[in-house]
Amino acid sequence: MGKPTGFMEIQRQTVPYRDAAERIGDYNEFLAPVDEAHLTSQGARCMDCGVPFCQSATGCPVDNLIPEWNDLVYQGRWREALDRLHETNNFPEFTGRVCPAPCEGACTLGITDPPVTIKNIENAIVDRGFEEGWIVPCPPPAEARTGKNVAVIGSGPAGLAAAAQLNKAGHTVTVYERADRIGGLLMYGIPNMKLDKQTVQRRIDLLEAEGVKFVTNANVGDNIDPRKLHEDNDAVVLATGATKPRDLPIPGRELNGIHFAMPFLHANTKSLLDSQLADGNYISAKDKRVIVIGGGDTGTDCIGTSMRHGCKSLINFELLDRPPDDRAANNPWPQWPRIFRTEYGHDEVAAKFGDDPRVFSILSKRFIDDGAGNVAGSETVHIDWSNPGANALFSEVPGSETVYEADLVLLAMGFLGPEQLLAEALGIGTDERSNFAADHGRYATSIDGVFAAGDCRRGQSLVVWAIQEGRGAAREVDRYLMGVTDLPR
Ligand code: FAD
Repeated sequence: MGKPTGFMEIQRQTVPYRDAAERIGDYNEFLAPVDEAHLTSQGARCMDCGVPFCQSATGCPVDNLIPEWNDLVYQGRWREALDRLHETNNFPEFTGRVCPAPCEGACTLGITDPPVTIKNIENAIVDRGFEEGWIVPCPPPAEARTGKNVAVIGSGPAGLAAAAQLNKAGHTVTVYERADRIGGLLMYGIPNMKLDKQTVQRRIDLLEAEGVKFVTNANVGDNIDPRKLHEDNDAVVLATGATKPRDLPIPGRELNGIHFAMPFLHANTKSLLDSQLADGNYISAKDKRVIVIGGGDTGTDCIGTSMRHGCKSLINFELLDRPPDDRAANNPWPQWPRIFRTEYGHDEVAAKFGDDPRVFSILSKRFIDDGAGNVAGSETVHIDWSNPGANALFSEVPGSETVYEADLVLLAMGFLGPEQLLAEALGIGTDERSNFAADHGRYATSIDGVFAAGDCRRGQSLVVWAIQEGRGAAREVDRYLMGVTDLPR
């Protein structure tokens, strides 16, 4: 341990975001630049805790070697820190930017003090690695090629991690993606200000240089026959994500101006990348009164994108109660802290319009028609979670009916699992939540040689879990193909 007393001497300081009022004028990443001294001193806060809970079951899903690289950063040994980081995580530049950091929730220092800024340090290590030119393609040697072919369907973090690991093991991997760009939600879900698309493309270029083949506009089940793909390959990995959105079937849902979050976010990023939004092929929030229904990452990204379009006002509805400011008694360390957090989009609304946009414990009852088939607002009621109703976990608060005016409503209420086309075409079993059925750690579906990983197997989750599952599925595919495997768990 570089500085045993660091946690007593140094206060937690996260890498700041750029000024909220300024950053809504562009789509550049919101993290401000940071100097090395800041990071080395924050790394010194990692105490010699003995049992690093940041690596436990409630901490980092990919088992990042956090205390080791915190110490290496404190000592200025960045290259070694990078090697340690890549041992467990194929894409630290993605998790370093977007992960909610369960590791920090489980950090032992967090019992008494603010936890170590693990996520910032991870991000800085990998950014430094790219700046220094340390991260270069490492294809397997030609003699290590096994002659086995694997098809990966879906190019999000699960598919990319599986492809990276299987290629490393010497298999010939082809990734099929129905979108026109590779990356899944890294490319067309999480917006640019959170994860720059050049950062995503840089890693895809590396994988390509290492030998992974990518096929875009390849909608398996539509323009590519999944059964043929199964026949032509030695194994198939399904990594198609959980793309079925949860709807809000209340009166007025059919009105113009009510959209699911994903078409809004996808089209915005595509237009941004294709033409800097000049082609107009996106749903614009400019000068509109916007309601975003649903909290979570998707809701926040709809808020941030609407702010950059120049919306006239913004309200965010959340069905659940406002979380407590501190851990509740039934949410002790090292569990993920279910506490009130202010994300980048909330800060941006407050900076421009003066208030946090969130309204908690609110239920939409119907959408209002402007008389010409367009949405004009939402009629709502407040709900009381402490008082369950006859048919619900909550009751409606009498007299709390409120109308919020809107020209654009974005539905960001989560996802219900994968589309079923591939399961039907290949005869794969599904679980009670309609996910592709396969055990965690085994990843084998009911069809021989077909594996499933990421959100299509576990349901809507996180980038870090997708990477964990992609790596795990690669290990199981390698074992299936070769009888043994050296790939890490
Ligand atoms: P995905 O990333 O969904 O990729 C699946 C891919 O499969 C897609 O590209 C899809 O086009 C493709 N596909 C589907 N069907 C077919 C087919 N038949 N043929 C070919 N291709 C197909 N997580 C975080 O950790 N931090 C965040 O900040 C965060 N923000 C998010 C913001 C939004 C708006 C959303 C929606 C999710 C966010 N998440 C976040 C969750 C995270 O993005 C996902 O958990 C993760 O991307 C899942 O990875 P995956 O590889 O399983 O699937």
